[in-house]
Amino acid sequence: MSFVWTVAEHAHGELKAVSFELLARGRKLADKLGTPLAAVVIGDQVSEARMRELIERGADKVYSVQDPRLAHFVCESYARILSTLIKTYRPDIILAAATSSGRTLMPYVAVKARAGLTADCTELDIEAETGNLLQTRPAIGGNIMATIKTPNHRPQMATVRPKSSKPLPKDTSRHGEIITIPVDDGMIDTRVSVLGYRKDAADFVNLEEADIVVAGGKGMKKAEHFSLLNNLAQTLGGVVGASREAVDRGWIGYPHQIGLSGKTISPKLYIGAGISGSIQHLAGIKTSEVIVSVNNDPDANLHKIADFAIVGDAFQVLPELQRQLKLRKGRAE
Ligand SMILES: Cc1cc2nc3c(=O)[nH]c(=O)nc-3n(C[C@H](O)[C@H](O)[C@H](O)COP(=O)(O)OP(=O)(O)OC[C@H]3O[C@@H](n4cnc5c(N)ncnc54)[C@H](O)[C@@H]3O)c2cc1C
Repeated sequence: MSFVWTVAEHAHGELKAVSFELLARGRKLADKLGTPLAAVVIGDQVSEARMRELIERGADKVYSVQDPRLAHFVCESYARILSTLIKTYRPDIILAAATSSGRTLMPYVAVKARAGLTADCTELDIEAETGNLLQTRPAIGGNIMATIKTPNHRPQMATVRPKSSKPLPKDTSRHGEIITIPVDDGMIDTRVSVLGYRKDAADFVNLEEADIVVAGGKGMKKAEHFSLLNNLAQTLGGVVGASREAVDRGWIGYPHQIGLSGKTISPKLYIGAGISGSIQHLAGIKTSEVIVSVNNDPDANLHKIADFAIVGDAFQVLPELQRQLKLRKGRAE
């Protein structure tokens, strides 16, 4: 029996949203192949209730590998464990998140498993005639979408961008099995230990998890004008994002870049000011719930896909939005 697997991610015992997004992708593939879907949890203190949620959101099985030495992501140990599981259970397909840990772990495991790996997929499907995984991702500088197959090696391995799909709703009537894998010393690479973490506080921004993103582009004209976006984001309780043009000009750091070569976001509200709406930028915002565009060009591409298109000068519109929001907040308090 072949299997589709997803690799769950967690922090402090809590599963990250991307674990459920991967299950939505995996479920579609497993259903097409008529095979079970399993999630692999490597970590520490991920509760049974959390693992049940994996089942409620699409998994048929959960392989749980837990030990205090696995509380933090250590590529060498995680790769040993995943490779051991692959040898034992022989999955056909493994999906992981294209996060920094997924992007580190999967190439390591692919080499050990002598398998291929397609990074950063935007679409996944099953080829009807062969059952092979069709792995689609941008290629040649984002100018074409390439579909890649791995017909001769197993497992077929792919990473998928966070926020590029929505988790399935919870279905509490779903049943599944949680299989606990005992950890032995041989699974832990004792050459590596985590001493601590350093966050670059000055430029750390959790764009992917933010509910509200206020983004600026070349139309903001200079770095100082990003204070307009900062103020609005602060009033709304959001964070600031940017187009590549703004980042390339040094107006804001790369961690803020949204789009094909930046981050994919899925906030409840995205406001883009002075952003034209290139396909590369849209690739990063298309799953936002509400899109607001502020641009003085009535034909700007971003206006075309926006829920609210404000045709106007960002230097007038943004302060006015800010003023109105403050007035409303004042009234509400
Ligand atoms: C391989 C590849 C990867 C890429 N990856 C990304 C990516 O990840 N993210 C990304 O964003 N881009 C990416 N790009 C670049 C992309 O093609 C565009 O060049 C970029 O998105 C344009 O940024 P922009 O909208 O800020 O600038 P522009 O396209 O120059 O648009 C500026 C807009 O500001 C408006 N404007 C000007 N003045 C005002 C004003 N006073 N008030 C209101 N509006 C005003 C203009 O009407 C215009 O629409 C990539 C390109 C390639 C080839």
